[in-house]
Amino acid sequence: MSLVKTIKVNAIKNGTVIDHIAAGKVLKVIEILSLAGDNSVMIGMNLESNKLGRKDILKIENRELTKKEVNSIALIAPSATLIIINDFEVVNKSSLEIPEYIEEHIICPNPKCITNIEDIPSKYYIHKAGSVTARCVYCEKKYLVEDLKIKV
Ligand SMILES: [Zn+2]
Repeated sequence: MSLVKTIKVNAIKNGTVIDHIAAGKVLKVIEILSLAGDNSVMIGMNLESNKLGRKDILKIENRELTKKEVNSIALIAPSATLIIINDFEVVNKSSLEIPEYIEEHIICPNPKCITNIEDIPSKYYIHKAGSVTARCVYCEKKYLVEDLKIKV
């Protein structure tokens, strides 16, 4: 009985697990993925972690993430691990990497930026030296990744 319960709570049959999200960031990840649809979702917040002290974790049944989604998640949760589950088995496990370039999902903080005036998808170059910054391709302003607003 307890085994069945554990499986139900902890494991998914098919889908994606995002582990080692910095504590407090899982809600942003959920926003990026627009997880309000048909997928079963399990959220763990502020769990103990050897790697991070505290971590969040997200399990999404029957969903694989697109490259764009993975890149957006990497920006806000660069410490995360992406795990693909197939029939309860881990078939792929990879560390997220902050991308060089990112499209969509981000609102340019500059109100005069063309992406906020017209319906143009935003694009950013990411600079990883020191603190991670994103430079808007359109208005060329630089922002700390922490200050960016994620589009829902
Ligand atoms: Zn801009």
